[in-house]
Amino acid sequence: MNRALPVLILWAAHAAATYAQPAAKPVLIEHVRVFDGNRVIDSASVLVEGGLIRSIGANIARPAGAEVVDGAGKTLLPGLIDAHTHTIGEASLEQAPVFGVTTDLDMFTDPSAAARVKTQQREGKLLDYADLRSAGYLATAPGGHGTEYGIKVPTLTKPEEAQAWVDARIAEGSDYIKAVYDDALEYGTGKPTPTLSKETLRALAAAAHKRGKLMVVHIGTLQQAMDAIDAGADGLAHLFVGPVSDPGFGKLAAAHHIFVVPTLSVLQTICATSFDSQLADDSRLKPYLPPAEITALKAQFGLTAKISCAGADEAVRQLKAAHVPILAGTDAGNPGTTQGASVHGELELLVRAGLTPVEALHAATAAPAVAFHLEDRGQIAVGKRADLVLVNGDPTTDIRNTRDIAAVWKAGHEIDRGAWKASVAKQIEEQTKQKTAAAPAGSESGWISDFEQEGAPQARFGAGWAVSTDQLAGGKSVAKMEVAPGGAEGSKSALRVTGEVVQGFAFPWSGVIFSPGPMMMAPANLSAKKAIKFWAKGDGQTYQVMLFSKGLGYRPATQTFVAGTEWKEFTMPFASFGGLDGSDIMGIVWAAGPKAGAFAFTLDNVRLE
Ligand SMILES: [Zn+2]
Repeated sequence: MNRALPVLILWAAHAAATYAQPAAKPVLIEHVRVFDGNRVIDSASVLVEGGLIRSIGANIARPAGAEVVDGAGKTLLPGLIDAHTHTIGEASLEQAPVFGVTTDLDMFTDPSAAARVKTQQREGKLLDYADLRSAGYLATAPGGHGTEYGIKVPTLTKPEEAQAWVDARIAEGSDYIKAVYDDALEYGTGKPTPTLSKETLRALAAAAHKRGKLMVVHIGTLQQAMDAIDAGADGLAHLFVGPVSDPGFGKLAAAHHIFVVPTLSVLQTICATSFDSQLADDSRLKPYLPPAEITALKAQFGLTAKISCAGADEAVRQLKAAHVPILAGTDAGNPGTTQGASVHGELELLVRAGLTPVEALHAATAAPAVAFHLEDRGQIAVGKRADLVLVNGDPTTDIRNTRDIAAVWKAGHEIDRGAWKASVAKQIEEQTKQKTAAAPAGSESGWISDFEQEGAPQARFGAGWAVSTDQLAGGKSVAKMEVAPGGAEGSKSALRVTGEVVQGFAFPWSGVIFSPGPMMMAPANLSAKKAIKFWAKGDGQTYQVMLFSKGLGYRPATQTFVAGTEWKEFTMPFASFGGLDGSDIMGIVWAAGPKAGAFAFTLDNVRLE
């Protein structure tokens, strides 16, 4: 029941590896078809040395000690650039290059996490991660899109605040400014979400330009897109939803010299086509997709309104006709998308909309490099960074061939795709084993806890109950649990949970966890049951039930409920948590957050059905 918007969920980043890579030996790729970012060269050899492209020619002498790669039947592309992603922990940066994406242009994440990664990358470290550029916080109105994830986004309400807001982002390390101009009505929400005024948007553009920064704008409708262009945007971070485009849209974009990142991938999720989920079944991508990412590709926004994406395809054709730079971006981090692999889907969608395969490849290489002033990359040319993707076959005639990757280099360092593939295979093997594991002893009746005994809360099976807060990930929230008098269904007692959610962590939470496995966070096979049932009452606030599944990694699937003053029973099927089957449940959390403040709720008669 997440908000029905192109959104992101942030979760704790795992610790960054801090080692530098040893200098790679020269690589000579011989007799390969080259797409250099702009055009196709039928056959050439490309020499990489010291992290850069040293020479390109028909015949290049093999340097001593060089690794020679036979490029016959293959195509060499510049490393792909995803012009709209959201960095969700560092795992996303590690996954992208496996699929040939060597640069991620993040459009909203925790700026301190982004700054840590960028500092290390400037020192030549983290070569296995996609190179990161980030907007940091996005510019939005109080209560506007971007404020719903528990990150305390600094908001603004009037044009006079724009320069200080922009300057604060630049001080934090933002590479460009991202603004939200979208009231979300087009998603059938019924009531508008607060958003920036056009005057504030105009002031933000002027403030960014004064400091030599680009401003890209998140829009949702054709009218918002036209307004954003008029207000001085350098680029649109999305195309709009809806059945039609305006005949003048392409010309307006051209007249204002903007670029557009259509993000057809996330629009496909909003329009509930099954396009994105098909990527998960492509045999060229599948062996490299961790189970949690396959789930992400098959996820939906759960919108009730039926939305058309036809206008976006029409707009792509108008932009092409008007020679407006089109950049490939996925909005990865959202339902229906995954880092890296979704770029291959985006390329196919751009071709379906009317681009030639060469134009689509340009949209993921030279075009974003030019638009975002990344002069050192995006092309295969002497002196450019050796960010390269070698693919089998010819994607300049069949765009789907970009998925058939033979090798990826970032700054001359070869990405170890084999090790990644082996780790994915291991995760799948563990998941398969877990599906046939015995159900926890004592779980047959479905009862977890009735909280009728005094003292510490008891459970019929598993590792039992514990307090769970964001302190686990460096946050400051607190919680306390106790068996207290007055239970549901006329029973004697229940589990009372009180505490406070404190801002300071990206995704604050505070509450209790039940671990059904033999130890805390060890997976248990609960698939003999189909749903979680519990009674709850409380202070009238909205609470979350977060299901931790091994297959989802440490990103929980979430549902919400309101704990009112009267006891009420809730039933939440496993399947309603993004289609989980319950076979690998590590923990069930009942928690307050991400909204800050004191809370109190009581749980009783918790069982599986
Ligand atoms: Zn986005």
